[in-house]
Order: sequence, then C-alpha cells, then structure tokens
Amino acid sequence: MGKAERGTKVRQVLEKVGILPNLINRYPHEFSGGQCQRIGIARALIINPKLIICDEPVSALDVSIQAQMINLLMELQSELGLSLVFIAHDLSVVKHISDRVMVLYLGNMVEFAGSDDFYGRPLHPYAQALIASVPVPDPTVPKRPQDALIAGELPSPINPPSGCVFRTRCRHATDICAEQKPIPDTANEDHLVACHYWRQINAG
Ligand code: SF4
Repeated sequence: MGKAERGTKVRQVLEKVGILPNLINRYPHEFSGGQCQRIGIARALIINPKLIICDEPVSALDVSIQAQMINLLMELQSELGLSLVFIAHDLSVVKHISDRVMVLYLGNMVEFAGSDDFYGRPLHPYAQALIASVPVPDPTVPKRPQDALIAGELPSPINPPSGCVFRTRCRHATDICAEQKPIPDTANEDHLVACHYWRQINAG
C-alpha cells in the first residue's frame, strides 16, 4: 500500500474498535489500558483474519472495561464473520462470549461441550469446582457448598501426576485415577468428559 492508502486503512480499523482517528499520533503511554487493548484488537484486525486467538484479553482490565471489550469482540465477530479462540480463567466471561467451551487442566482437555450444555450440567470435578468458584453478585443467593471447591496447589506442569493429572486435588480420586489416564468419553453428542468417576457412575 502507498502511504495515503495505509493511513486510510489504519483510521478505518481504529474507528472499528472505537478509537477516534484524531488520536492516531498519540504516544503509547497517552492511551488508557482499555484503549491499548482496543489498539491490540485493531492490530489483529488489520490483516483481515478469519480467526483470532485471544489469550486472556481482558484479565488485566477493570470490570467495566472488560464488558466493553467483550461486547466489542462479539460485535466484530458477527460483523466480520470472525472465529475467536478465547482463552480465559474467568468462567463468567467465557460464558458470555463462547458457543463452545473446552476446559484444560495442566494442558489436558478434561471437558468439552456446547456452552449451554456445559454451564447447565458441568460433568468433570474440576469444571464443577471452577463454576462453583464464580462469585454470584446477589446476597440472596445461598453460598455454594465448600466441598465443591478445590483444595491444594497446582502441580508442576514439568512433572505432572501419573494417570489423571487432576487426581492430587480431586475429592473423587481412587486408585484407577493414579494408574490410568482417563480418555474423553461422550456424555452426549455435543459433550465430552475425561473422568473415571464420571464413567463409573454412568456405567450401566
Ligand atoms: S479421573 Fe479420577 S482424579 Fe481425575 S477427575 Fe475423575 S475422579 Fe477425579
């Protein structure tokens, strides 16, 4: 592209992410955290991608700015036909933006399902604990049982536990969990779970 064409394209993509084109000559330190995040999205969009991998895109932002960013990503998703791989540890944010959810523990897939199915009926003990730990901003909602939460520390990814990698923190762990790595099972056509306990209670 020539210089003029480049300038036009940059202004267009900045406008798309909600940055006024007259701010184009600002220095990086003159932008807020939310604006920097929008500029990051603009940098990804300018090459007309079909897929964007968003690795913890909102974890460093205030809650109000997080909502703006998520809404912006969802608008761009439907306007441009983008696919987003959204990596996050906040399951309430994931619920808002995702069609399908995969839960990983120490790099292993433990559950994979459509969003409605997953949030309506999480099957893996780790996924259940993650969902149980999401704060509910309503004092009238009863506290979740403590036994649904996870105890202990994350093991070293360099030296993961044998068998099921979640077994050192799982309240349902038995001998087989140390001996055999669970293979993902089909709970229904849109729902996979890798857990010996789940397999046992659903056998026959
Ligand atoms: S396989 Fe065993 S240790 Fe792993 S999540 Fe299931 S019950 Fe827990």
